[in-house]
Amino acid sequence: MNAGRGPTLRSRRPGRGYPEPPTSGELALERPAGVRLVVGLSHDVDHLGLREHVVDRFLLAAAFNALRQNVGRRFRPLRAVDQLWGLGLALFGHDRWDTIDALREHELATGVRSTWFFAMRPGLGIRYAREAAAPAIRRLADDGFEIGLHGQSHDDAAELAGEFRDLRDILGRPVHGLRMHYLRLTRGVLDGMQAAQAHYDSTVMDREHLDPATHPLPAPRRMRGRLLEIPLHVMDSTLFSVTGLGLAEDDAVDYVHRLAQRAVELERALVINLHPNYFSRQTPEIARWYRRVLDVLTSRSDTLVTDLAGLARLYCDPR
Ligand SMILES: [Zn+2]
Repeated sequence: MNAGRGPTLRSRRPGRGYPEPPTSGELALERPAGVRLVVGLSHDVDHLGLREHVVDRFLLAAAFNALRQNVGRRFRPLRAVDQLWGLGLALFGHDRWDTIDALREHELATGVRSTWFFAMRPGLGIRYAREAAAPAIRRLADDGFEIGLHGQSHDDAAELAGEFRDLRDILGRPVHGLRMHYLRLTRGVLDGMQAAQAHYDSTVMDREHLDPATHPLPAPRRMRGRLLEIPLHVMDSTLFSVTGLGLAEDDAVDYVHRLAQRAVELERALVINLHPNYFSRQTPEIARWYRRVLDVLTSRSDTLVTDLAGLARLYCDPR
């Protein structure tokens, strides 16, 4: 851990809470026989690659971020140079963020299934068109991965329902899960979920209580009757970014181990998000972190690693 400072987050973003009171308390996790640890894996697909940003100013912002992450609080000039080199390569067609296939194949080889949230609308740094994402979505679905919506329309329920419809048209079947881009959860989002007959959302994240020794690991609650809100606990960018906890690779692995131990003790699940574009040579410590976390989780016989739909099935309402 970073010395001298507790792992609380100095962020411009406030802690994300519920937009209205949940209609249930925290639900109890029903662990299958022999299972002590349950982990839900998810991926927010913000980028298909660097290529879709060649025409906008995102690469400039990414170059600035490469410097901010590696020169200053952490001094890693070679990493900064390599990241700038990677951005330059994108201009010539070699795309280090073209990682979806590699991540899919790694998870297939590891024997885990995760939930992938794809955006159907551009905005706030997302630039890919849904048509461009469709082949990857279908490949993942064919391999048994759950596909959810990475929602954009936080203030327009009809528009959010339209996003669900567009993803359903690509998949050829209903879409049950949602995570909002930038974690923008509002009452309008709940309206849109109801209109789209979605089952669960996984957008709430407590960004104030991140210490793995005391993390509350909040459990899902019901919203508006049957909607399920599944809180997110571990966000890759929060662990690694210098505007987040700014952890090194070993400390980030240790962070997840400690949270996993706490999840066993509290009989709660652990919900993790990895942005697929970080499973990349651009950010090798994040890619290695995720591989190491999966290695440990899948080597334990008492651990169930599942997608979020699978996780949702393990909760029952309090009696
Ligand atoms: Zn996002």
